[in-house]
Amino acid sequence: MPDLFIDGSWRSAADGGTRGVINPFDATVFRHVDEATAADAEAAVLAARWAFDQGTWPATPVAERAAVLDRVADLLQRDKEEIAHVETLDTGKTLVESRIDVDDVTAVFRYYAQQALVPVDRTVDVGQANVRSRVVHHPVGVCSLIAPWNYPLLQIAWKVAPALAAGNTMVLKPSEVTPLSTVHLVKLLEEVGLPHGVVNLVLGPGSAVGATLTEHPAVDLVSFTGGLSTGRAIIRSTAETVKRACVELGGKNPNIVFADVDLDVAADVVATGVFLHAGQVCSAGTRLIVEESVADELVAAVVEKARRVRLGNGLDPASESGPLVSEQHRDKVEGWVARGLAEGAELLTGGRRPEGADLQRGYFYEPTVFDHCDRTMDIVQAETFGPILTVERFRTEEEAVLLGNDTSYGLAGGVQTRDVERGERVANALRHGTVWINDFGPYVPQAEWGGQRMSGNGRELGPAGLHEYLETKHIWQNT
Ligand code: NAD
Repeated sequence: MPDLFIDGSWRSAADGGTRGVINPFDATVFRHVDEATAADAEAAVLAARWAFDQGTWPATPVAERAAVLDRVADLLQRDKEEIAHVETLDTGKTLVESRIDVDDVTAVFRYYAQQALVPVDRTVDVGQANVRSRVVHHPVGVCSLIAPWNYPLLQIAWKVAPALAAGNTMVLKPSEVTPLSTVHLVKLLEEVGLPHGVVNLVLGPGSAVGATLTEHPAVDLVSFTGGLSTGRAIIRSTAETVKRACVELGGKNPNIVFADVDLDVAADVVATGVFLHAGQVCSAGTRLIVEESVADELVAAVVEKARRVRLGNGLDPASESGPLVSEQHRDKVEGWVARGLAEGAELLTGGRRPEGADLQRGYFYEPTVFDHCDRTMDIVQAETFGPILTVERFRTEEEAVLLGNDTSYGLAGGVQTRDVERGERVANALRHGTVWINDFGPYVPQAEWGGQRMSGNGRELGPAGLHEYLETKHIWQNT
């Protein structure tokens, strides 16, 4: 069956092109998918435009749209094992992680099924008896939704659910590295019976289809999650047509630990925060900033945990972490480790590919800890997007906050302390879109997610995540 979904039917690429999808566990091509051309992307955009202008989905009562989202949530649970399986083959992450992703995505569809029903229009009292003034909301129109490879299903769903709830039409583009869970999601969206053209799917790299999805005048909004340099390019390419561009980019996320914590618990939070999914998490806590008096003890405990992470096939229940996503990405991670060594950071563990015959074929990399780092190092400032922790030490709360904010990114951060007031103070002082106190990583569909500064300009999840897909209009009526 072909893999591109345009105007309600599954199609092959205009030029018949395909791409092999690689399992990062063993570097084998386990499937081929159709790879769209710019002409396919244009057909998808025009189908979404026509579906929007026809008005069936935008005019569908919101309660009916909400029921469709609920039905998608049901189908996601029905197909949970199948989807988790392809997500693991595609990304290398463990089945446990993939199953959590499917559950989280289900919760996001359920949340927006509810949130869509919350009234957002309002009447304004302008102080004139003969005037009725209302602020109302409409769907934005045609949305290009572009996702990265680290959380393929999750990141596209954070866009699709609110965009559909708000009555938009759309073209989805997953990463060329990890397309399969999005193909499955689109099959579910087909199954719930959306009008033709409301949801379209193109596969392929940004170089083939990106320009069409971001520059085409028939597109009203681009929502992108991915790297900083691509985000900049997308903002530039949307500028000509002045379309709305929401970009969710990378992070260099501090995890600040004060001396008053339980060090065992803190070491767990640090290790999980940085090594989950082999560090390929935009909000990974890659920068440990620890109070000097407990630094050696905490770092030793984290190193111990790093050494014990069981790397392996994501399909094997005994594996705690899978490989990096691709050979090219492992090359990048190795480049960052080489840079850290050249800058004089002290390598305590990792910094190499693991031994063991079963790990040789795939793109594995050992959890890595660099101690005695300082803020001027690239390894401390750049998003390495791998299992690399850097350690800096502080003496005062002010210094901890300064270091925590000493990044051009602003996605997420953590503070660990038993002092409740200090936790609050530091959380408020950190310029990051999410701050965890005595934890690192959880999120819920009800609360907004997004970056400050170079981590992005939009919000996903929560009421604001729906608002991204709505236009606001003031209607002034002389009665
Ligand atoms: P990437 O920027 O290379 O690619 C992301 C997507 O953009 C892919 O689908 C890619 O094909 C597409 N793309 C590339 N060039 C394009 C162009 N010119 N026009 C349109 N589309 C184009 O990112 P990646 O390597 O897939 O993902 C890793 C990055 O994503 C990391 O920086 C990570 O921090 C970030 N990320 C951020 C969040 C967040 O919530 N802020 C979440 C997950 C990942």
